Amino acid sequence: MPVCIHSWPQAIIHVDGNAFFASVMQAAYPHYANKPLVVGKERGIATAISYEARAYGITRGMQMHEIRLLCPHCILVEGDYELFSLFSQRMFTILRTYSPTVEEYSVDEGFADITGLRRPFHASYEEIGKKIQNDIQHSLGIPISIGISITKSLAKLASESKKPRGCTVVPGKHIESFLASVPIAHVWGIGPSTAALLTKLGIHTARDFILMPSAELFPYLSKPFKDLWHELRGTVMHAIDTNTKNTYQSISRTRTFAHPTKDRNYLWAQLRENIEACFAKARRFGYSVADVHLFLKTQQFRYIATSLRFSTPQRYPLTQLDQFEKTFLAMYQQKTLYRATGCTVGKLSQGELVQSSLFETPHKRAPAIYRTMENRHDITFGTSLWLASEDRKTTKHMRIPMLTVRV
Ligand SMILES: [Mg+2]
Repeated sequence: MPVCIHSWPQAIIHVDGNAFFASVMQAAYPHYANKPLVVGKERGIATAISYEARAYGITRGMQMHEIRLLCPHCILVEGDYELFSLFSQRMFTILRTYSPTVEEYSVDEGFADITGLRRPFHASYEEIGKKIQNDIQHSLGIPISIGISITKSLAKLASESKKPRGCTVVPGKHIESFLASVPIAHVWGIGPSTAALLTKLGIHTARDFILMPSAELFPYLSKPFKDLWHELRGTVMHAIDTNTKNTYQSISRTRTFAHPTKDRNYLWAQLRENIEACFAKARRFGYSVADVHLFLKTQQFRYIATSLRFSTPQRYPLTQLDQFEKTFLAMYQQKTLYRATGCTVGKLSQGELVQSSLFETPHKRAPAIYRTMENRHDITFGTSLWLASEDRKTTKHMRIPMLTVRV
């Protein structure tokens, strides 16, 4: 069976924000530009690393003291999830000016169908990709890498092949030569155990994978990997999903660690990331949160969980951070090895339940300012950020009563 011989049966673009959280901080605060910077100070571990900091060997998950040893002048900052969400929305707004068929895959990456746009734009797909890239980079000041090919899996591999600021185009007729340069373990969706299995079958590159006949390969593979085999050969198995989900009963985030740990600070950092991510997603869909369920999972697969209920639904976890930390410390046992943390938020309600306006006392102003930021696309980041951060300092002392229920 031949690998796709037509160059452009359809054209799919993958747009990826490079070192997104770090790049957003550098764009929003010009004095951080071109400097080694790490996001994650609030959790004690690196969650995003600027390209200048990567040059010092800093990697994701590294602890702050390790980072300081590698690069003493590295700038360590707290993540600003409102700001990241705002940049993300702007990125997708720009992408939608080119194509109505857009999938928001995650906060910093998405797909769009650009089939048939060559004529209206009087441009090749590569020129369209570079135009989108320039548009986003100039408006937001963050580096973007672009991949264009004939399926989502191929477009994603293309954008990953050259970062930052790459624009890689793989037409159908060049699939084989492109995939020859991609190690099988680097393919999107192939984890370490699948890569090890495929290596045993003599597959070392993505090209080896697509050239192995399905009759020989498929007995070893589950459905997602069979789909991947077809996608990498140029057959669309995953259509662009434009139906961004917009109603939720609950929102969950978990993090499983590569190595089980007893480290209290590390566990709290991971759990805090889960909590912030849940609330950020809830806010994006206009929800306030009444129930928060936190858990730790031990090396023996035992779950230790606690549920919290707010008497007034909340949108911002920072104001309740001390309470979350106390809850975590009550669950944590220093001699136990843990393999995962997680958070689920539930009892989601639409709209603002706490009335707030700019005329209230300063500590109640923060939500109004955040809301202004979230709903507007034309704000000047610098000014609003200053307001937000000034207000945030005061909101740390705001307390709303909470019930704690052991489960
Ligand atoms: Mg990215």
